[in-house]
Amino acid sequence: MQVERSRENLKECQCMHCPSYTTGCKIKSMPENIMNLMEGLSETDHFECMFCAYEKSNCIKENKGCLCEDCPVHKKYGLEQESYCLR
Ligand code: SF4
Ligand code: SF4
Repeated sequence: MQVERSRENLKECQCMHCPSYTTGCKIKSMPENIMNLMEGLSETDHFECMFCAYEKSNCIKENKGCLCEDCPVHKKYGLEQESYCLR
């Protein structure tokens, strides 16, 4: 099932709390993420968060743990994988 690119799902996404999403990547992706939020989450194919709904990250390169298994979106859509930022 395709994960809906909605604000509701984004609110539940755990990626921002994840150790793999480094502070450097958060700072780097902030302007683009703000722009995408203003334009609308369904208007873009790339977003540096909620990676199960978009492509992998352009910044996160190392797996330092993943919180997908604890995420309500993971449960809601019956997702079976994790580390969506890396694949
Ligand atoms: S997809 Fe998993 S590993 Fe990647 S940032 Fe999100 S919670 Fe962390
Ligand atoms: S399953 Fe992982 S990538 Fe998808 S919304 Fe949850 S934490 Fe983010």
